[in-house]
Amino acid sequence: MPDVLVLVDHDGERVHKCTYELLTAARRLGDPAAVVVGTPGTAARLEEPLARHGATSVYAAESTEADEFLATPAVDALELAVREVSPAAVLVSATTDGKEVAGRLAARLDGGLLIDAVDVDSCGVATQVVFGGSYTVRSQVTHGLPVITLRPGSFEPEERPVEARARQLALPPVDRVASARVTARRAALAGDRPELTEATVVVSGGRGVGGADGFKVVEQLADALGGAVGASRAAVDAGYYPHQYQVGQTGKSVSPQLYIALGISGAIQHLAGMQTSKTILAVNKDPEAPILGLADYAVVGDLFAVAPQLAQEVAARRA
Ligand code: FAD
Repeated sequence: MPDVLVLVDHDGERVHKCTYELLTAARRLGDPAAVVVGTPGTAARLEEPLARHGATSVYAAESTEADEFLATPAVDALELAVREVSPAAVLVSATTDGKEVAGRLAARLDGGLLIDAVDVDSCGVATQVVFGGSYTVRSQVTHGLPVITLRPGSFEPEERPVEARARQLALPPVDRVASARVTARRAALAGDRPELTEATVVVSGGRGVGGADGFKVVEQLADALGGAVGASRAAVDAGYYPHQYQVGQTGKSVSPQLYIALGISGAIQHLAGMQTSKTILAVNKDPEAPILGLADYAVVGDLFAVAPQLAQEVAARRA
């Protein structure tokens, strides 16, 4: 079986769920080989969970400055690994960083790039949902190495314990002029909420929330359900909530088990980031709002009346 390279998404201590999804998907194409980019010691810490999820090799691309640059170390590491193992494909999570890494890698290797796939079969045919869900496209790379980004939440991660071989990749020194440097750490996630692209429940607020204070209602419902908070671009642009929580075409793509949209109209650019969610509940006071047509459960009403009741009911059932 050919190797299939998987770029590991992690925070230094913990492998993110989207990587286990990639390892599960990779098994359809070959033997999953994980590439860990981080500071020294990271790969050794992450090897056990990666092997438990089917990584037959774990490549360590470690340097003391791995965290100081954005895409460059990961692109360098994947390029080295590709040259070493001639894989059948490279799989990367369709996160903001992942898409940048995948695009640069495909350009460097003159490969083919398929982004935001929600499925991939054993022949490397990827399924993408485009134009806000209006069309489903099946695409295959016909020239060069396939580099595929998979939307988080598209695969159910499955454990498949194997004995992983630890490998080292010697990263070249980063070109400091050409590489974007991290100048500020990402803002810490509020409280104990799960990461937006990893959460099984996402509660998002839109312009209908009316202000930053209004988002407390969104957060309360998310917390009652153990979910993450998202926001529409209109809410972000108006300063109600930080940009890192934006869902949609120019924000993050999510595919949770449950997506709750509060005061969001359902513009095509918002749908592009959430319409593959397994179940959608929308609350909107306008019965004509497009999102109500897409939702599995549509509530016509004031979000400030509906969301707190829902949060209370969930909390009561959990008590
Ligand atoms: P609105 O469209 O203003 O809708 C607000 C909704 O709240 C209305 O339906 C209203 O009936 C309802 N409402 C008001 N008060 C209440 C209440 N008390 N209770 C219940 N309902 C209430 N948008 C994204 O979200 N993500 C993206 O990534 C994104 N990328 C874009 C990229 C491009 C190139 C462009 C051109 C646009 C993009 N947009 C994106 C913007 C998008 O077109 C919409 O403008 C945006 O999604 C609208 O956000 P909204 O639904 O919160 O606001």
